[in-house]
This record gives sequence, structure tokens and C-alpha cells, in this order.
Amino acid sequence: MIRHERFAEDAPGKGRREMDSTVTTAVSSHIPSETNELYGHERADRHLGALLTDLGERNLYDAAAQCNRCGYCETVCPTYMLTGRETISARGRNQFMRMLVEGRAKNAADAEEALSTCLLCGACSTACYAKVPTPDIVLEGRRELNGYGDNFFARAAVRTLLNAPGLFAFWLKLAYLVKKTGLPRLAAKMGLYDFIGMPALAEAEGSLDRVPLRFAGEIFRKDPALSPHGKTAVNWAYFAPCGPNYVFTDVALATVRVLRRFAGEGVYIDNQCCGLIAHNYGRLEDAREFARRNIERYERLRAVFGDFPVIADCSSCAAFMKTYEQLFAGDEAWRKRAAAFAAAVRDILEFVPADKLPHADPAALEKAGRVTYHDSCRACHGQGIRKEPREALRRLAGRRYAELPESDWCCGGAGAFAFTQPELSAKVLDRKLRNIASVQASTVVVGGTSCLVQIGAGLKSAYPSARAVHYSVFLDEASGAAEKP
Ligand code: SF4
Ligand code: SF4
Repeated sequence: MIRHERFAEDAPGKGRREMDSTVTTAVSSHIPSETNELYGHERADRHLGALLTDLGERNLYDAAAQCNRCGYCETVCPTYMLTGRETISARGRNQFMRMLVEGRAKNAADAEEALSTCLLCGACSTACYAKVPTPDIVLEGRRELNGYGDNFFARAAVRTLLNAPGLFAFWLKLAYLVKKTGLPRLAAKMGLYDFIGMPALAEAEGSLDRVPLRFAGEIFRKDPALSPHGKTAVNWAYFAPCGPNYVFTDVALATVRVLRRFAGEGVYIDNQCCGLIAHNYGRLEDAREFARRNIERYERLRAVFGDFPVIADCSSCAAFMKTYEQLFAGDEAWRKRAAAFAAAVRDILEFVPADKLPHADPAALEKAGRVTYHDSCRACHGQGIRKEPREALRRLAGRRYAELPESDWCCGGAGAFAFTQPELSAKVLDRKLRNIASVQASTVVVGGTSCLVQIGAGLKSAYPSARAVHYSVFLDEASGAAEKP
């Protein structure tokens, strides 16, 4: 259990129970005032047991208090740079969280705004000398917002994905079939999504123009070459994140072709969702259960084949799985197992060495035109991956490769951010599109499926001569490996 004995000490002149409680009532009604505990293992459904930071294990208050208010982060925080507002900068958010814990924050609307407008991009943590984990701090704050993660439909979707993935796939296909009829657009116009408390669904529905009716997992489960049966050794296991599995199956298929071509024999791990959606939208116990099931599948294969890397092709999911250990802070047995799994996870962006790649197929290069690379936040800030994809792209595209200005600036996709904060998201995207136009790129290579949706949609409306392509698809096409499944 983590006790925040410092709350009372830090609050000038009075104990926490005597403080102004406007915000702690409206925003943090779950904080137990008797014990001064913001979170602990008794509240494991709502909060992490501890934050595992670059400087070691910290409780929420100490992590936020690590901010010395130097302001270095303000030059890289997109929400601050675009608005000039201190309250929605990393420094402002950390300061706000500290005040919230101390009971000194007075306005629930400010709390809601500061926490819900953060992109969780992590650019601030990269720039920060004190390594303050602002995205994790913001998420902990969001989990205190009343109703956060309690929407009936979101809860039902996560629980179905967890306990009945076959049923989830069935419903998703049904939704895709309905989408093809144009009915969802009608529902949006009628305000049905507002009625069920999920207005973001209207935006989400409109941003996808292609939907698959056969999911990647279904294809891989029937592929004997990806089965563990009959194998004595494997060089990799493919983990299908929800984006490539349920939406961009072409990405999943390309990744597996690239892996086979450049890394030899492997298997499909037949995973469940990594748990990131549940984690970010307030359902921590569900996130832990997703993690446990994936860890168990990995361990079963490891018992047969020994060590092998687990490759994922969405940077958000890869980055999240690398932090599985944090989900189990306080549970030593699972924490150890989570750390072993996390150590095996690799993003496809870092996995294929450039010197293994051939020179690009000329026809594919001609089609690609000028190539540039957008750093997905969870690749560069979340995992520190910058060098490897650039080396691979330079090797393949040669002089056609151009470095993108502000390439590690968020695109504004950020999971559901584009749907929950459409105006701010559009401003962030606009800056990205201007940078893409400045290098006259025709192909923008990305490593995250959220970036694929966001940049793809932006290019389609503002710069239709260019396209967004996932890294695996580009490698597959440019190295001539794109034989059809
Ligand atoms: S978050 Fe880090 S960079 Fe930003 S003000 Fe605080 S200490 Fe400085
Ligand atoms: S995570 Fe991104 S948007 Fe949020 S405070 Fe940090 S830099 Fe700003």
C-alpha cells in the first residue's frame, strides 16, 4: 500500500480533510480522506500500485512533485505550443495534479480540461531532465474523473473483447457490414451516438473507409506455417495488435511476410488485445487480465522453444507491453513474469536490421516517390526508437528519403484523441501536414495504426497526392516481398 503522508504536511496550514474540497468532491470523489491514500492495492481497479519511472519507483505525488517547473517541456508540448496556455502544458498538468492531491485545486472544469486535453505523447518526458512521467501522471488523474471508464457501451466492448473475442469479432463484422449500408452515417446525423454517451463514435466511424471482413488472427490461425506444431525452434512470434488484426489486416499480413523473409521461421502467438484500451480508458483490472493472458501464452511457447522475441506492429501496443511490469507493482509474482514478457517485446520498427535489406525494387520506388518518416510518439518517446527505421528507409529509398521537420511531433491521432478532442487534434494534424508538404513527400511511413488513420485522413483531404503507409507495408513493397497471401 502506498500512503501519501506528505499530503497533510505539504498543505499549508491545514490537514487535507479541512481543505477546500470543491474539486476533490467533484473530480476525486474516490480519494479516501481518512487515510490520505490516493491509490493503493485496495484500489487496484482504479489506480496503479506505483509508477515505475526512469528514476525508480515513485508514488503519484512524488512523481508529480519531481517537476521543478523549469519549463523545458513547454517547447515540445503540442497542446501548449498551439494554445500558449500554461494549464494545458506538461508543467501545468503536473502542477495541477500536485494541487489536486493536496486538495488545493478549486475548479472541476479546469481539472477536466487539463487532464482530457493531454495527447499522452510523452514528448515532455523526453525533454525533461527530471524524467517526470507526465503521461502516466495524467492517466492517474483521469482515472479519478467521475464516470471515467464507466460508460456502459465501452465497458461492454472491453469485457466482450476480453471474455468472448469470437463474439467481439462477430459484432465487429456485423458493424462493418452495417457500415457498408451507410446506416452509421445516418445514426450520426440523428444524434444516436450522443444519445448513448459516445459522440466520439460518429467521428471514428467516418474516419475508416476500408474495413475487412476476415481478420488477421483468423487467417494466421489457419496457416500451418505459423503454427507451433511440428517446429523445434522459432526466431520470432507475431503479436497482432487490434489495429492490424481488426482494421488494417494488410499491415499484419505484410509484417508476417517481412518477418518470414528476413528472420526465418516463426509462430503466431494467438494473442488477445494488449490491454492498452482498457488501461487508458479507466479499466485497470481488465487491462491486467489482458496482460496475464498474453503473458501465459508467451510462457507456454517459451517452455517449448526457449527465448524468442515477440514482434508487434503497432508502436502504441509494443510500448505498452514493454511497461506491463507497471500494471503489477505490488504483486511480485506477476510483476516478475510481466518483466520477462516485456523484455521479449520488440516493435517491428526496431527488428529488421538495415543491412539485411536489399536495395529497393525500382518499380516500388517509382510508386513511392519521395519518402519521409513520421515518428509515432509511442515509438520515439515511448520506446526510444528513432535510428533503426531511418537506417532501413535510407537503405531502401536512398536519395528519395527526406527527413521530416518536427518528425517526432504528435500527429493528433493519439488513440481516441482525434475523436474526443476534434478541434485540438485538427490543429496538431495541420502542423504535421504542413511539415509533410514542406518536403514534398509522396509517401509518409508510420509505425502506429492511430497515426495511419490520422495522417491518412489528413492527407486525403488536404494533400491527396501523398499517402500514409505503415512501415511493414513499405518494407514489404519496397523489398519486393509483397507476394499475395
Ligand atoms: S515536467 Fe520536466 S521539463 Fe517540464 S517543467 Fe517539470 S521538470 Fe521541467
Ligand atoms: S504528453 Fe504530450 S500533450 Fe501531454 S503534457 Fe506531455 S507533451 Fe504535452
